[in-house]
Amino acid sequence: MKPIQIEDADPSHYDAIIAGGGAGGLLTGLALTAEGKRVLIIEKADRLGGVWHSYWVDGYRVDNGLHVITRVKHGAFARFMRNHLTPPPEFVLHEGWQFRVHDKVGTIPSSVGETLRWPLTGLRGRLGLMKIGAKIKTMKLEEMKTYKDISFLEFMQSRGATNQVMLDVMQSAIYMAAGVGIDKASAYESLRTLKDTDKESGKLKSAVKLIFGSEGDYDEGYVIGGMEGLIERVIEAINGDYILNAPVEAIHESEEQVTGITASSRTFDHSLIISNIPLWAMDKIVQTDSTLISQFFESNSKMVPTHGLTMWLGLDKVMIGDRKNRVLVHPNPNRWIVSISSFDPSCAPEGKELVAIAMLPIPGKSVDEQVQVMKSNGLEKYYPNLLDHVEMEHIQTSYATRAQLIPGQTDLDRPGPGTPIKGLYLLGLTLLDLE
Ligand SMILES: Cc1cc2nc3c(=O)[nH]c(=O)nc-3n(C[C@H](O)[C@H](O)[C@H](O)COP(=O)(O)OP(=O)(O)OC[C@H]3O[C@@H](n4cnc5c(N)ncnc54)[C@H](O)[C@@H]3O)c2cc1C
Repeated sequence: MKPIQIEDADPSHYDAIIAGGGAGGLLTGLALTAEGKRVLIIEKADRLGGVWHSYWVDGYRVDNGLHVITRVKHGAFARFMRNHLTPPPEFVLHEGWQFRVHDKVGTIPSSVGETLRWPLTGLRGRLGLMKIGAKIKTMKLEEMKTYKDISFLEFMQSRGATNQVMLDVMQSAIYMAAGVGIDKASAYESLRTLKDTDKESGKLKSAVKLIFGSEGDYDEGYVIGGMEGLIERVIEAINGDYILNAPVEAIHESEEQVTGITASSRTFDHSLIISNIPLWAMDKIVQTDSTLISQFFESNSKMVPTHGLTMWLGLDKVMIGDRKNRVLVHPNPNRWIVSISSFDPSCAPEGKELVAIAMLPIPGKSVDEQVQVMKSNGLEKYYPNLLDHVEMEHIQTSYATRAQLIPGQTDLDRPGPGTPIKGLYLLGLTLLDLE
C-alpha cells in the first residue's frame, strides 16, 4: 500500500473504502487483499496504526497502548497473522505472572493442590476460591447470560464469595479484560473471560490459569520490533492506497444504502464503506434522514470507553530482567509491571532496561498525583532502588478504543459489524471477525 494525495484519489479504483487506519482498518485491509480486493484507507492522523503505535523517547522505544498481545500462538489472531504475513511476525512469549499481596508473592496455581497451598490467602480464602472456581468452570453460557445486567462483584457476593484477597486478585485480572473494576464489570463478561468461552474476546487466559489453574504455557507475547514494526509489515502487504491527514467528516446514505464518504471537504462515491472510526463518534458522521438509522447510531454513541494510565521508565541498568508480568495487588491501587526490554532488547540501549507500569486511573486525582501513587505505595518497597536508576520517564494517558464491558455494553448489547445501512460496516469497537 502506498500513500497518495486526496486530490489524486479515484474511488472507482477501489473495491472498498476504509475510514480510519487503526489496527481494525489495517487488518481488514489485509483480509480484503487476501480476497483479491483493493482498498483505499482514509486516515485523519499523520500516520497509520491508531492506538497501535511505537515511538522513541530518549533512546527507548515505547508502545502506545498495546504492550503484550494475547493469543499469539493459538486462536484467531495467530492464525490470521500466519495466513496473511510471510514469514509470520515473531513473538517472544511471556513467562508467567507474579501476584504480590503485601509481602506474599503467588504465581499461578496449576493444580488443585497448588490452589490449596496458594500463599496469598488463608485456608478459608483458598477453599472459597476452589468453590467459586468449580462453579464458574461448570457454568453454561446460557446461565452466564442471565448475569449480564449485574456486576461481577454482585455475582460474587450473591454466591458468598467475599474473601477480600480473592476479590482483589480477581479485580486485577478482570480489569485487564473488562477495562473496569469488578464493581462495574458485567458479571456475564467477567464469567465468560474467566471460563474462556469466547475465543475472540476471552482475553485473559492467564486469569483462568490464576483462578482455576491449568497446564501449559502462557499464550501471550511481545512482537519483536514493537507494534511499529508489525504495522509497517501490514501496510506493505495491503493492496491499495492510503491518504493521511484527511478526517472523515461524513458518510452518506440514500434509501438505506451507503453512497459515499466526505473527507477534508472532498466527497467520494462508493457503495462499500468500512468504518474504523470509534462508534461513539459515528452519530455525527453518518448523514441520514431516516429516524431508524439515526437512532441506531445515537444509541451506540453513548458507549463509554476504557481508560488507562501507563508510566514508562528507562533504567540505566537491568533491574527486573525477566519476562514475567508482575501485579502489585496490595497495597492498592493495583499496578502491572512488565520489563518490556526483556522481551525485545532493541527497545532499550544496551545494558539498560525499559519497564512499563500500568494502572487503573484514580478518579478525581490529577495525572501528577497518580504518578506519585504509582511510584510509591509498594513500588519503592518491592523494588527499593528502582527509582534511583530512572533516566527516562514517560507518562501516557489514553483511552483504549474498546468499550467498557459493563452492564448495557456487553457483547450481547453491542452491534455486530452490520449497520442498518447496506454497504456500511463497523470495525474496532465491535468484535473484529478475523476468521
Ligand atoms: C493503554 C492501552 C493498553 C492496551 N493494551 C493492550 C494489550 O496489552 N493487548 C491487547 O490485545 N490490546 C491492548 N489494547 C487495546 C488495543 O490497542 C486496541 O483495542 C486496538 O489497537 C484498537 O484498534 P482500533 O482499530 O479499534 O482503534 P484505533 O487504534 O483507535 O483506530 C481508529 C483509527 O481511526 C482513525 N480515525 C478516527 N476518527 C477518524 C475520522 N473521523 N476520520 C479518519 N480517521 C479517523 C484514528 O486516527 C485511528 O487511526 C490497549 C489499549 C490501550 C489504550
